[in-house]
Amino acid sequence: MQKQDQLLNILACPKCHTGLSFSETGAYCGSCNINFEREDGKVISFICKELYEPAENFSKIKEIIGFWGNGWKKRLKEPDHAFLYEKDSEELRKFADEKVDNVLSKIDHPILHPKREMGSLTDKIGLNIGCGCGEESLHFAYQGASTIAMDLTRPAAEAGNYLINKIEGDGFGIQADSRFIPLKDNSVDFVFSLGVLHHSPDIQRSINEIHRVLKENGKAFIILYTTWSMAFGVQIILKGILSGNITKDKLKRHVNKNTEGAWKTESRENPLTDTFTGNEARRLFKSFKKINLRKTDFRPTNIPGLSKLAGLPGLNLLLTKEFLEKRIQWLSPIIGSALNITAEK
Ligand SMILES: [Zn+2]
Repeated sequence: MQKQDQLLNILACPKCHTGLSFSETGAYCGSCNINFEREDGKVISFICKELYEPAENFSKIKEIIGFWGNGWKKRLKEPDHAFLYEKDSEELRKFADEKVDNVLSKIDHPILHPKREMGSLTDKIGLNIGCGCGEESLHFAYQGASTIAMDLTRPAAEAGNYLINKIEGDGFGIQADSRFIPLKDNSVDFVFSLGVLHHSPDIQRSINEIHRVLKENGKAFIILYTTWSMAFGVQIILKGILSGNITKDKLKRHVNKNTEGAWKTESRENPLTDTFTGNEARRLFKSFKKINLRKTDFRPTNIPGLSKLAGLPGLNLLLTKEFLEKRIQWLSPIIGSALNITAEK
């Protein structure tokens, strides 16, 4: 069987988890009698009303897709992402080769250093949940992994699909909800999800799905926002409480309003941003046999007032971003904003 066919073979109905039959127009589950359509010959969408009961949950997910999908349509055209889609395949491969250490090592995650820590990713099947601009999927495919770039939104799933294809990597994009992963049980070697699952309306269900689709001894690499951090605990949550958002609901709305502003389009509100303590994360992953946690990603901009100070004449020469980043590295494991979770099934 060809590699691409092998990968198609692990796709399953998100409702009953049985195998699908494929055609030019999409995929079909005979047991549930559901068609999953492929629009414009690109990615298959596994979002369908049959997954959402009661019916109002289907309206809710469409609203959530509206926020993130329109957000991604906008973000993919901005300079921090647009350059990825202007490169030819050779330039893109070069980028993947050079930046796998440079850019992604900032995220400080072992899966991103396969050459050093994991061995080659060839013969591994990886699921990238919340593939966004597609850069993570690009790196996995470049390292030889058969890669499924999954996102709740079509623009992002298509971006992942495009980049994997562009370097002639093995894999494709799919549009799906992490609470209903359209893969068979025990089918992938690793799951990677960076800064995404804290937006899931039911994160426990998403983590249970990750556990289900991982093979025995497979690993999940998940990054969540952490509550006990300068960026969230102090700058957003404490600030929110001090400005009078003292009920649980008010505080939730305050956190949603003050995060992910870069994805805001028109009058759409960020539906949900959650943060997690280490203990909460351990509970979420309790069905895994091993779990490892550490905090990362403390940045100079997380220190209140420092940006202003660093902008002053004279000080701006001394307090450069690079200098500050080096000086505050030691704070990352204490008050960093990212909770890096490695969990083994
Ligand atoms: Zn089915």
